[in-house]
Amino acid sequence: MVVGRHRETKAVIDLGAIYHNVAEEKARLKEGQDLFAVVKANAYGHGLIQVARAAKQAGANGFCVAVIDEGLALRQAGFTEPILILGVNSPIEAVIMAQNDLSVAVGDESFLREAAPVLKQAGLRLKVHLALDTGMGRIGFRFADEVKSVVALLGQLTKQFVFEGIFTHFASADSKETSYFNKQVALLNEMLQVVSPKPRYVHFANTATAMWHSELTGNAIRYGIGMYGLNPSGSQLTEPGTLRPAMELVSQLVAVKHVSAGAAIGYGETYVAKHDEWIGTIPIGYADGWSRKLQGFSVLVAGNYCEVVGRVCMDQIMVRLPQNFKLGTKVTLIGTNNGHTITAQDVANYAHTIHYEIVSALTERIERVYV
Ligand code: PLP
Repeated sequence: MVVGRHRETKAVIDLGAIYHNVAEEKARLKEGQDLFAVVKANAYGHGLIQVARAAKQAGANGFCVAVIDEGLALRQAGFTEPILILGVNSPIEAVIMAQNDLSVAVGDESFLREAAPVLKQAGLRLKVHLALDTGMGRIGFRFADEVKSVVALLGQLTKQFVFEGIFTHFASADSKETSYFNKQVALLNEMLQVVSPKPRYVHFANTATAMWHSELTGNAIRYGIGMYGLNPSGSQLTEPGTLRPAMELVSQLVAVKHVSAGAAIGYGETYVAKHDEWIGTIPIGYADGWSRKLQGFSVLVAGNYCEVVGRVCMDQIMVRLPQNFKLGTKVTLIGTNNGHTITAQDVANYAHTIHYEIVSALTERIERVYV
């Protein structure tokens, strides 16, 4: 992917905010609890390596990623901390994971049976974390007798596997309504009863679970969205600490023109100027992850909320300006501009999605600048 270094649009990442958010959560943890920084998907769009460094400085004990290559990138950058791959992988990949000391989520006995001979031949041991599907419906063992069976299998395959962890993932820890959460907890407790002794890592908490169900954090948490300064519930629940959003998305006006009433703007003539208007163009579009759904939403230009008019193009958007502004005037798409703020949550509300998607969908073409 080509990075647009010579373009005005930048995601400005405040590594001090990442540090603050991790340090604050670490301080809330109980003695002996570890924090795994979830840095998958290019650290939710914030930049894998830079975020991992800041998180480590703030006390993160390990990392979670989604795919093997993210783990390899961390190893290549010199990280020696535990790295857990949260997604399921083909048994063929067991060797590369073991060679690079990557731990992997396992939610199916067949993975172990098929990876064991491959590892045996290579003379390697792979660290595994058993995934328990207590209600997420995604990956993992669903019944206590399945867990019993896989633990017994691991007991027979100790030359090929290290039983390093066991975990589950909650589907609704970010909600006021706790009945489904409690149902998951009940099933979790049932499944955990058949595991003795417990492995090194027993972990249940994403950010929301760590924030609002701290009685249940096990001995490690998987801290994702909170590290980026965003409240996992959107605005439903109040976060316990002082989250500092780590990303601002900024750009500049690269074209400004005066159009007459009746002028159409953008593909499909979906916007026609009602009056004589000032129109500005900003170099960001859906190929940067700025969705077409954001037509009609606003950006900040010199402290003014300016509506995106016409369709979002692949590389550019047009906005209606209250007056003529100079080329190069700063535009803020996420963040604060002259006392007004647009949050990732505001963008998500407009696009009918969640802030996770807004930040992680920003493509690598947008240069990340670290402050
Ligand atoms: N654990 C697992 C298994 C996940 O899939 C994720 C994120 O999707 C996380 C932890 C981190 O969640 P959050 O970003 O809400 O903290």
